[in-house]
Amino acid sequence: MTNSPSSCCDSNTKQKLNNLDSVIDWLLGQANILSKQEGSFEEVKLTNALNRVLAEDLVSDIHVPPADNSAVDGYAMNVEDLNETLHLPISQRIPAGLSPPPLERGTAARIFTGASIPEGANCVIMQEQASSNDESQNVQFQSLPSIQQNIRPKGQDIQAGQIILHQGQTLSPQRLGLAASIGLAKVKVYRPLRVAILSTGDELIEPGEQTKPGQIYNSNRYLLNGLLNNFQFEIIDLGVIPDQLPATQAALEKAASLADVVITTGGASVGEEDYIQTAIKSLGHIDLWRVAIKPGKPFMFGKINDTPILGLPGNPGAVFVTYLLLARPFLLTAQGLSQITPSSFKLPLSFDIKKAGVRREFLRVKQDESGLLCRHPNQSSGMLSSASWAGGFAVIKENSAPQKGDLVDFIPFSSLFSLNN
Ligand code: AMP
Ligand code: MG
Repeated sequence: MTNSPSSCCDSNTKQKLNNLDSVIDWLLGQANILSKQEGSFEEVKLTNALNRVLAEDLVSDIHVPPADNSAVDGYAMNVEDLNETLHLPISQRIPAGLSPPPLERGTAARIFTGASIPEGANCVIMQEQASSNDESQNVQFQSLPSIQQNIRPKGQDIQAGQIILHQGQTLSPQRLGLAASIGLAKVKVYRPLRVAILSTGDELIEPGEQTKPGQIYNSNRYLLNGLLNNFQFEIIDLGVIPDQLPATQAALEKAASLADVVITTGGASVGEEDYIQTAIKSLGHIDLWRVAIKPGKPFMFGKINDTPILGLPGNPGAVFVTYLLLARPFLLTAQGLSQITPSSFKLPLSFDIKKAGVRREFLRVKQDESGLLCRHPNQSSGMLSSASWAGGFAVIKENSAPQKGDLVDFIPFSSLFSLNN
């Protein structure tokens, strides 16, 4: 492995653990980024483009709005035409959608919101500050207006030639609206990244089936499907691999040939019933194993042919953490997103950390009424109740033991589930 991540040693287990930040940096360098691949984009209708990643800059051919227009229902005129009487005859009526003739000087035009300002007018007085009865062809104003009052100038939102959105940005609802405002019916986006998922474990059965002694339900499969669906990846769900080497080799080989990235859960350690590492070594190579993260230490990365394999642990709580902290940035980078960092902010703890650890810990927490972070009482990597209860992660840095009231980084799940660019 070139430029390996930096590592430390767990003094209890004597295991070499890779530093989390340098693993993330290194992983991003390993992502086969769609934007660098031939034919990795497609043109889609704007109505089908929600949350897709732009494969091109969007440049406007037009000004938005295309002409000066009125911000209110009222009267357009030239300020110079008003004397102390603040009284003018009405010469024309301009609803939105018309191209009006020039304003006859010394008159006002009845005008409506969004309608084009006639040539010669330089302000609009809102109808609430004017009086004119229906029959009268005159209007009386309450006060002298200022130049440009209530006029939305041509190009106020977007100028012709301006880049409105950049390659690598995602199409949120407001960006779809922005693209529509410059008249685009279709956009060029990256094809969805193909992600194959595999669960390992002879103990697993599917929800809906009857358990026999020794069996448990496969929760990782549903957890991963949900996490991946959030980002609109194309999921290739290859089900469960039994704990046998030939079956694991066959499943991984198939997954690597079908997908851009393969994600496995379980079987990633080197126990007698863990076959993922042995299978990958026989078909390709393992580049990284064990990260200084809690939960999630047994995270593994390897490649078969050129397809990256992310080996997540088996414990569901650790799958949740390693997916969000390690797989998520990798997948979003491969998908072509230019900005992948989740937002986080500092919040005070409502509890003491008893002992500093060598791994960075991601506690499942939520804010109490006074704004302090409280943690779920059971932080076991085997359970999902804590992640389901929590609103985000409190980050306890390696070799630190913050106390009640100390500020730590809080990463809301919402910022990890959403596309923040
Ligand atoms: P492993 O890494 O395969 O030794 O698995 C670690 C722990 O996670 C074991 O208790 C497994 O039973 C459990 N586990 C593995 N895969 C799953 C899964 N898909 N759903 C729920 N629990 C799992
Ligand atoms: Mg297993």
